[in-house]
Amino acid sequence: MKRKIAILGATGSIGTSTLDLIERAPERFEVIALTAGTDAEGLANAARRTRAKLAVIADQSRLAELEARLAGTDCRAATGAEALNEAASGEADWVMAAIVGCAGLVPVMAALEAGRTVALANKEALVSAGALMTDAATRHGATLLPVDSEHNAIFQCLAGSRRDDVSKLILTASGGPFRTTSEADIRAATPEQAVAHPNWTMGAKISVDSASLMNKGLELIEAHFLFGLPPERIEVLIHPQSVVHSLVEYIDGSVLAQLGSPDMRVPIAYALAWPERMPTPAERLDLASIGSLEFEQPDLQRFPALRIARQALVQGGAAPTILNAANEIAVASFLGGQIGFTEIASLVEQAIERAVAGAPSSIEDVIQVDLETRRAVSELIEARCH
Ligand code: NAD
Ligand code: MG
Repeated sequence: MKRKIAILGATGSIGTSTLDLIERAPERFEVIALTAGTDAEGLANAARRTRAKLAVIADQSRLAELEARLAGTDCRAATGAEALNEAASGEADWVMAAIVGCAGLVPVMAALEAGRTVALANKEALVSAGALMTDAATRHGATLLPVDSEHNAIFQCLAGSRRDDVSKLILTASGGPFRTTSEADIRAATPEQAVAHPNWTMGAKISVDSASLMNKGLELIEAHFLFGLPPERIEVLIHPQSVVHSLVEYIDGSVLAQLGSPDMRVPIAYALAWPERMPTPAERLDLASIGSLEFEQPDLQRFPALRIARQALVQGGAAPTILNAANEIAVASFLGGQIGFTEIASLVEQAIERAVAGAPSSIEDVIQVDLETRRAVSELIEARCH
């Protein structure tokens, strides 16, 4: 029986890596549905190659182009929230959640409520919805498989052990392009410098998050909700080589780590074949040629985003939702040249300080807090620019 696949965000960095693996193993996988934001050409090409049945484009103005590019195939072109939910919860039994940002929340919830296996790359959705998402997975018998390399590493290191035997989780972080940059130079950082990640090739938003260490902050919150450990038992360790993808310390002092070359196809393949494994073309790890691995403490002075994210997790309530929404707006404004790099963290901190909202009790609440925060942070940015 072939695994039936849907990919939400099929034209992005994670989406194309997922397609690459699927197209190398056509005997194992059948592509049912693919979605994209605006890239009708990339979506149509992928749908043609994989003989997908449904292609959904979020940007309605690109539907006609998508239809034209799919002419003569059996693939239906569609747009809109309903079509996106159909892609996530229809015929497919395995769903890659690789939309960037909170825009991916509603389809992820649709997939979980339909009891699907969801491979989660879209960390913003989980940070924003928190326990509402993991509870939905439990209630509907859905499976949530972590794709983020750190969480996938931890998931692998936890296999076959009792949760009570875990003492802490250690998330590694490359430190990003500004690991050794002075505070003054970080302040003057351009979007080009911020997206130039030393070890990984990724979408623009997560690349900026990696440069500010907000990515690790989001991952701290992601780890809390995925694995159920309290914040004080989840640590962050800078490891510039990105070879050790994360570690689990057990009560007897044993530490288990997962290692590999920095290629997202490895964690994606683990989720695709789970509970089995499948071959990947990822470069094999050559430890002798790497020679030595380095580790250091994160510098919370130069990278306040990590401290702010930890505070948001400890604070709880709506704070993680606000953190994520404020960061999405701030990062987009930084990429658009409206604000400086260090303003990202200060805007996020201000948004959390102004928070009055209690804990969201439904996904509708989460979306409401998300929208209100976006509006408030946009106003703060407007005010600064005038
Ligand atoms: P990307 O920007 O390369 O791709 C994003 C995808 O989402 C594209 O297909 C785009 O068309 C689609 N999209 C964007 N906005 C949308 C909207 N409003 N509605 C519907 N679709 C929309 O991003 P990426 O690097 O592939 O990252 C995707 C997710 O995976 C992010 O949450 C990121 O944090 C996470 N992630 C990525 C990596 C990586 O190596 N790239 C690693 C770990 C986690
Ligand atoms: Mg990661």
